[in-house]
Amino acid sequence: MIDIIEYPTADAEIYLDLLPLETAQQLAVNAGQFKTDSVLHINSTAYGGGVAEILHSLVPLSNALGIKTQRAVITPKNPRFFDVTKRIHNMLQGAEGELSDEELDIYFECLDGIADDVRENGLSADVWFFHDPQLLPLGRLLDRGIAGTKLWVVHIDLTSPNRWLMDRLMPLTEAYDLMVCSLDDYAPAGAPCDAGIFIAPPAIDPFAPKNREMPRHKAADIARALGIDVSRPLVTQVSRFDVWKDPWGVIDAYRQAKKSHPGLQLALLGLSQANDDPEGEQVLRSVSEHADSDPDIHLYFSPYNLPATNDEIVNALQTHSQVLVQKSTREGFGLTVSEGMWKGKPLIGGNVGGIRLQIVDGESGYLVDNARQAGERIAELLVDEELRAEIGRNARDRVRRKFLMPRLLNDYLRAAQLARSAAR
Ligand code: UDP
Repeated sequence: MIDIIEYPTADAEIYLDLLPLETAQQLAVNAGQFKTDSVLHINSTAYGGGVAEILHSLVPLSNALGIKTQRAVITPKNPRFFDVTKRIHNMLQGAEGELSDEELDIYFECLDGIADDVRENGLSADVWFFHDPQLLPLGRLLDRGIAGTKLWVVHIDLTSPNRWLMDRLMPLTEAYDLMVCSLDDYAPAGAPCDAGIFIAPPAIDPFAPKNREMPRHKAADIARALGIDVSRPLVTQVSRFDVWKDPWGVIDAYRQAKKSHPGLQLALLGLSQANDDPEGEQVLRSVSEHADSDPDIHLYFSPYNLPATNDEIVNALQTHSQVLVQKSTREGFGLTVSEGMWKGKPLIGGNVGGIRLQIVDGESGYLVDNARQAGERIAELLVDEELRAEIGRNARDRVRRKFLMPRLLNDYLRAAQLARSAAR
């Protein structure tokens, strides 16, 4: 099945006002080139995870700038599809092993079914964006069935991928006019796309409910309702319960900082939403054991019976915390990093992947190689309010200049222009 998601149009002006004049003008000119075109973004899940988050904002903004833009989400017939694509995701980030013939069959058969759905529903566009490995084979499967320029966008850290899998997946990029990666370092050698690879780091929506300014008292109310003692310091990591997000390391860092700050509390917010991530519960169980019933460690997983919406809770915990952490050991690009920095908070990130581009170490946050370093940074920041404020200001300014949604939309438009000229 494939469903189109409907959105109300956004107000483009408020976004453009945040940009330097020259950037806003560039965006308007580029958007003008697509006035008579239709654009379609397809991805694998309506909610949860970074890609869903981006499209949810990018599609309305694109429409507001006069480009007829739609978003479609697939529902594969076999629910095991997402177990397979999660393995593919992990292997592309470096996990070892091979897929079984059965797993490969599930992957290709489900996407074959989706290709039929696309044709039967008569979906059409002048420019198609297919997001992530979940959709990769669709380009080839649809090759003769659809017209238009086709781009494959991959949001994953591809610095040391599983070679066995890369040998099987990379030939599929041949069906695309262009491939879009989050970072230079991720561009795989020898991908056979016609026009090559375009780099477009992901971005956040400053006006989305999870990022717009939240009054401090409201943030504190929500934190209190979540069981946090608002009179004591709080460190938070917002992330799916996922091996690569290293929630165990966050707990170790918190324990290290707690030695000098006995009142410290930790929140790990990973509300389960993405139906393409079946491993979460397993990771949660192991993290729970590691937390060892410490009453100051708060784990949030269930999306039910919450005192506020998911977005309000993300916003509240980021706004209320003194220090934020994203201790990933692999990260294509951490949206949560930009979201936290946009709140004007010091964020300590794992020294990996996209986080290294997002944070300038010691200026707009800190990069760490292990839990001990993270713990030391947390402790240092907790005693120095001025340092927290300064790093937080720099962090917000960096996001404003580099990582907001209009810049990403502009990148996608430039990528589409390039792909189109390559296709001619
Ligand atoms: N997120 C959320 N609620 C949660 C945990 C995460 O809304 O409880 C969001 C988070 O705010 C971010 C996205 O999920 O927008 C995660 O994107 P990121 O790039 O950080 O990681 P991914 O999940 O794509 O690996």
